[in-house]
Amino acid sequence: MERLRSTDVKYLKGVGPKRAELLCKQLGIKTCADLLCHYPTHYVDRSRMYRVADFAGDMPSVQVRGRFVSFATQGEGAKTRLIGLFSDGSRAMEVVWFNRIKSIRDTYLPGVEYILFGKPTEYGGRWSMVHPEIDRADSPNVSVGFRGVYPLTETLRNRGISSRTIYNMVSALLPRCKDISDPIPEDLRRRYRLMSLGDALRAVHSPADNDELQKARLRLKFEELFYLQLNILRYCRERSESVPGFRFGNIGYYFNTFYKECLPFELTGAQKRVIKEIRHDVGSGKQMNRLLQGDVGSGKTLVALMCMLMALDNGTQACLMAPTEILATQHFETISALASKIGVNIKLLTGSTPKRERDAIHAALLDGSLHILIGTHAVIEDTVKFRNLGFVVIDEQHRFGVAQRARLWKKNSVAPHILVMTATPIPRTLAMTVYGDLDVSVIDELPPGRKPIQTLLRYEDRRMEVYRAIGKQLKLGRQAYIVYPLISENEKLDLKSLEEGYGFVRESFPSYKVAYVHGKMKPAEKDYQMSLFASGEANILVATTVIEVGVNVPNASVMVIENAERFGLSQLHQLRGRVGRGADQSYCVLMTKVKIAKETRKRLEVMTSTTDGFVVAEADLKMRGPGDLEGTLQSGMAVDLRIASLATDGQIVQFARNAAAEVLDADPALVSSSLSGVKREMALMFDKSYDWSRIS
Ligand code: ADP
Ligand code: MG
Repeated sequence: MERLRSTDVKYLKGVGPKRAELLCKQLGIKTCADLLCHYPTHYVDRSRMYRVADFAGDMPSVQVRGRFVSFATQGEGAKTRLIGLFSDGSRAMEVVWFNRIKSIRDTYLPGVEYILFGKPTEYGGRWSMVHPEIDRADSPNVSVGFRGVYPLTETLRNRGISSRTIYNMVSALLPRCKDISDPIPEDLRRRYRLMSLGDALRAVHSPADNDELQKARLRLKFEELFYLQLNILRYCRERSESVPGFRFGNIGYYFNTFYKECLPFELTGAQKRVIKEIRHDVGSGKQMNRLLQGDVGSGKTLVALMCMLMALDNGTQACLMAPTEILATQHFETISALASKIGVNIKLLTGSTPKRERDAIHAALLDGSLHILIGTHAVIEDTVKFRNLGFVVIDEQHRFGVAQRARLWKKNSVAPHILVMTATPIPRTLAMTVYGDLDVSVIDELPPGRKPIQTLLRYEDRRMEVYRAIGKQLKLGRQAYIVYPLISENEKLDLKSLEEGYGFVRESFPSYKVAYVHGKMKPAEKDYQMSLFASGEANILVATTVIEVGVNVPNASVMVIENAERFGLSQLHQLRGRVGRGADQSYCVLMTKVKIAKETRKRLEVMTSTTDGFVVAEADLKMRGPGDLEGTLQSGMAVDLRIASLATDGQIVQFARNAAAEVLDADPALVSSSLSGVKREMALMFDKSYDWSRIS
């Protein structure tokens, strides 16, 4: 591999300086190794030969074997095309070219036997193929079995570089694969049943059959994910060794009194388990970095509070940071109501905290009389200094970047324990990669007595029926949310808007009070409207997705989401979580246009069929890919996944993580000579990004 890495592709047979420049510009391929690692995105089956006489229906790309009978040009100027009459003995078809006519005419000769590969189309009872791939039947390049289709760009295609051209270049390298030394040690390969690297590289370009292809892809995916996991785990281990943490050895007055006297209900089994996991961590003397996942309404706040009480019992302060003012305020109110009875001093700090109050908070934090600080980003400002910050809770973490987390970290000489809470269930694959440096706890149980939300899919033309149902709930004294994708009308988008909807809703429910919130309102105005709804004074809240996170109004029992087809599943799930927080049966209605695509309908049916956030998140990941989250990974870890996919290779991620852990258990610094190859690959992949891992 070293040799291939240091050989410019231009020296490869069939490439040359011009094509090399194109490959570099268009695909980033500079060396022979880059070319060898330019994998096909999918494969076509060339194991069977078709007969033109058997063509029927909508055909996939197929191959036929035969001879050109004649060539003729048709049309003039830019519209000139070349038509070749091709017969395989069963029947004739036309082969059509729109460009490079002269060179095609010079290349292909009547009478010589060729194999053509392309998609047959039928017009007026005659079959034709446009721009097929062509090989002489006696050429050694003729492929059998599975053939890869390579990612290309438009420019490359226009310059006459086809998937086939790439394959031909790659095939010049394939004989050298057998000499490639394998960085992955043999015993690991044996245990995880992995093909050798050389075999895998050959087979991924030129598999003998599907079985071999799958094995090759598995090996290559495993390798990428293995390095990624090694990097993550190595960093975690280093951090846990080099970063000291507070040892919370005592469970004392605050925790115990709260548990005995203030707990309004029995903890769920899952809450107890998670508190135990965290207690174990914080008692270990190592700094905790834990991700707490729990579906909306699973009771994460209570867990957070009890952990903060542990911090207080051990002479330290705690801090809870939320992404919005509304949420921070809500947490402040909930937590104050629960814990102020036992003498915990709690304060709220947000962007709108008046200067005098802010100064008092700063002073109380420094002298240690303030125990728990709850707030927005305001809490990470440099002016906010703690006497002894021991525990940090970050709620709904996906809105906080790594850098912001790091600022909290640095508020003390001893790094505080960090608990990151998210209600967006993170599929395991992503938890192991994007959040791979965090330990994970899951609250997988809702408090008793909750009735699962009923979710319905309704087309626009049944709006009146839906509104009647809302009316019924309002009459029972419940409240309703109506969510719009846009704030105001937009000429380009045929979507419902909040402004339009607000008027319509008020007309439809004249005897009820309607509040509204959207993202462009001033915070004070937003808070006022929210408080109207939260207090029950307003019966209906018309909103955009600003209500997505955290808002808690247990009396709300209906949510209507307009143009639901526009939202991602995870987002719909978040929105839906605003209802079903009380004891009443709640409903979520997904309204869509009458005409939606079949896939859209299928996607929305995931929502009507389950209330399990993990199922929703998995489905979302499969359908839409990891999206932003993979972006976080890619920019953070600067790793470029060439073949593995976080969306579909969950199992391989797990294998790779296990293997990486085994390797590090046996040899934490990767000093053994059998790991020298692994070490070299890691250095190549992660050199630039290594520092990133030090900050989170
Ligand atoms: P999350 O933040 O996980 O979405 P919350 O912490 O806001 O959920 O809790 C949702 C609701 O459930 C709150 O009203 C809370 O008081 C209640 N709750 C939490 N734990 C329990 C429990 N063990 N039993 C009953 N109700 C609970
Ligand atoms: Mg919450």
